[in-house]
Amino acid sequence: MRSARAVAAFDLLTPATAEEALSALRSAAPGALAVLAGGTDLLFDLDDGRLASRTVLSLRRLPWRTLAWDGAALTIGSTLPLRTLENDPGVRTRLPGLYAAVRAVGSVALRHRATLGGNLGRSAPASDLIPILLALDAEVELVGPEGARTVLVDRFVQGSRKTALRPDELIRAVRIPEARPSAYLLQRVRPFHDISHMAVAVAYSPRRESWRVALAGFPPRPILVPEAGELLRGPRPSSAEVVRAAETAAQLAPIVADKRASEEYRRALVKPLLERAVRACASSGGAT
Ligand SMILES: Cc1cc2nc3c(=O)[nH]c(=O)nc-3n(C[C@H](O)[C@H](O)[C@H](O)COP(=O)(O)OP(=O)(O)OC[C@H]3O[C@@H](n4cnc5c(N)ncnc54)[C@H](O)[C@@H]3O)c2cc1C
Repeated sequence: MRSARAVAAFDLLTPATAEEALSALRSAAPGALAVLAGGTDLLFDLDDGRLASRTVLSLRRLPWRTLAWDGAALTIGSTLPLRTLENDPGVRTRLPGLYAAVRAVGSVALRHRATLGGNLGRSAPASDLIPILLALDAEVELVGPEGARTVLVDRFVQGSRKTALRPDELIRAVRIPEARPSAYLLQRVRPFHDISHMAVAVAYSPRRESWRVALAGFPPRPILVPEAGELLRGPRPSSAEVVRAAETAAQLAPIVADKRASEEYRRALVKPLLERAVRACASSGGAT
């Protein structure tokens, strides 16, 4: 059980522009600055002594709490609170999988602080947001001293606490190229308290006429299972296709045990979760 001691004192920098924030990062010694968005992960790290840094660079004043639709594409500022994302009517109706995934994160109170940038920055194996971003083919916009660059979420996320982010870069936004039918389902013991033992995200692209299937909940990171997506055809796959895709995902995915669940239990969860997710997606009506 976590002790009730207070987080140790730290210096706080609160830049108002991206240039100021990047300049502070650039002039700090390696590991001397900890970047803070909502703080729901980072403050635990500081408390646990996991971070050597005693200077915190807060992103809260940056103009990145944005949400912008451009036709079928959605760009989400990295510091937008998840609760604001959840309350966008377009997200609920046009990206039902993203809506379900956001609502799976902790409690309403937590989502008032937690951000998408922080979820990607932490890159947890049981993240609820990374699998749906994988299924939606999302990309991460990074800014650094040399300007901006874009990385697919599948390349950005490399393992627990491991990402493609360079020490002098920040996550500015996440771009979802196309609103599309999608679904997210997870298995956990207690809502609000526990993270998933297994989670499945699926999305169907009407433009590409293809499915993407992602799994999460086990180390080292959420993954795509392309072989499963390729077995599904059209917006409403047949029952036989759904069963074959679910069996293929359960067999081929590199699922492992950890202290929270056995490999056998996790593999057994894939089939029912994936079958339900594909059916939910096929009838979700998420539209471009
Ligand atoms: C009680 C509790 C329940 C939780 N439940 C869930 C859950 O159900 N599902 C789930 O997925 N997560 C859960 N989490 C984890 C956490 O809330 C999420 O990962 C959240 O999205 C983190 O966002 P944040 O803004 O608070 O990140 P922070 O704590 O501020 O940052 C997290 C990491 O990302 C880095 N970072 C943040 N923003 C940026 C940026 N813009 N650029 C570069 N690096 C950045 C930070 O340096 C830090 O390393 C839970 C946490 C708690 C405490």
